[in-house]
Amino acid sequence: MSEFDAIVVGAGPAGSSSAIKLASSGLSVLLVERADPPGSKNVSGGILWGNELAKVIPDWEKNAPLERFVVSKGTGLLTDDSLISIDFRSKKLENNKTGYSVLRAKFDQFLANKAKASGATLVTGVTVDKVAFKDRKVIGVEQEGDVISSDVVILAEGANPRVAIDSGLREPIGDRDVAIGIKEVIRLPETTINERFNLRGSQGYAGEYVLGFLKDGVKAGGFLYTNKETISIGAVINAADLRANNSTYSYNIMEQFVTHPFIAPYLEGGKVEEYSAHLVCEGGIKSVPRLSGDGYMIAGDSASLGFSNGLVIQGMNYAITSGIAAAEAAIEAKTKGNFSAASLHSYDEKLALNYVLEDMKNFKGIEGVTWSSLMHKAVPRIAEKVFFDMFYETGEPKRHLSEILLESIAGSGMSKSQLILEAYRAARRM
Ligand SMILES: Cc1cc2nc3c(=O)[nH]c(=O)nc-3n(C[C@H](O)[C@H](O)[C@H](O)COP(=O)(O)OP(=O)(O)OC[C@H]3O[C@@H](n4cnc5c(N)ncnc54)[C@H](O)[C@@H]3O)c2cc1C
Repeated sequence: MSEFDAIVVGAGPAGSSSAIKLASSGLSVLLVERADPPGSKNVSGGILWGNELAKVIPDWEKNAPLERFVVSKGTGLLTDDSLISIDFRSKKLENNKTGYSVLRAKFDQFLANKAKASGATLVTGVTVDKVAFKDRKVIGVEQEGDVISSDVVILAEGANPRVAIDSGLREPIGDRDVAIGIKEVIRLPETTINERFNLRGSQGYAGEYVLGFLKDGVKAGGFLYTNKETISIGAVINAADLRANNSTYSYNIMEQFVTHPFIAPYLEGGKVEEYSAHLVCEGGIKSVPRLSGDGYMIAGDSASLGFSNGLVIQGMNYAITSGIAAAEAAIEAKTKGNFSAASLHSYDEKLALNYVLEDMKNFKGIEGVTWSSLMHKAVPRIAEKVFFDMFYETGEPKRHLSEILLESIAGSGMSKSQLILEAYRAARRM
């Protein structure tokens, strides 16, 4: 007889959502989190997209510690001298709220406390070392030599899944699987944030940027999200580029982003309250491991489930959905009294039926677009030249857009045919 029906490792969005679902369905659950309090080791940009939490916390929009809702979604290309941006600002986003900024230190505590209130046993400040095996079946977790037993273990330990790797349940993470995320939280008065971003009340801005000004072949994107009285700003840097380049450091890239002439004014007078770094899942479907086996399932970032296309970063919604799906599979397994690989495979089937695995499969190769020279070099250069030439009055006769465009392409470092081919490939994958 096991001590618990289920042990969940990690109280991030995947683990806590899973534990809420399990405990509120009457299973005995141990939720183990290395941080104390939960969330204090976690980093996210953090826009929570979608309405996944409603499946376990119907009133989450009223009671969760949400900062602002996204009314304005920006996308920008930064070069040394310019910012070329689109700002989609819409009453439709106000009336159909689909993204909220969150601060994980508060948000994760809220979720973990909900798991506790649902009946889960929450243990914080404890790092699980490995899963425990008997006859090649997972029978619990191991911590400092002690085994705590359960019928099923759900690994929701995030983007650096040491337990899964050290237990031989997934391959080690490589440069192609992750990017390096650096983030600052900068405090500013609410009125200043509202004025700078043209916001009212709880309206929020979320912007993604291509850092097209970077040298040395290192590619990175930036994000800037508004909270009530802080701004979350960060850079997501290609890990392989960084490793290949000995003279560029992630903190230099972050520094260049926050001091860029068209970003710095947003932050002026602000006080840096947090500086953090974390891995971001970026490998797409190629990084997704075996999701379940005898006595275990892997959810959220631990299973490399996430989506990023340069316009948006999404991981928390995939974590919540996969955590809940793992809980549902465990509940069914409990009813059948069968926690074998065949039984828990229903987890994989659930992920194949909802958007999680479908997105991962449909957007196979998206990372090739996100990190392409087309997006990071050619497009920013072309866009800057086109707009400058269109708006700069020379006193000479004006030229047609097509002429300016062809000239800009010629100066982009890519041939016309190469550019058309790359742009077509990118459009198909995005
Ligand atoms: C810079 C950055 C920006 C991002 N921006 C966004 C965004 O805007 N929107 C979005 O949706 N996603 C974003 N993401 C991705 C998102 O943060 C993740 O996809 C999401 O947090 C995954 O949730 P999770 O529960 O799987 O893992 P995590 O949130 O990482 O939670 C894992 C938990 O497990 C705990 N843990 C780890 N190992 C152990 C152990 N051995 N024992 C006990 N506990 C353990 C950790 O302390 C942690 O609490 C961003 C990520 C980064 C780094």
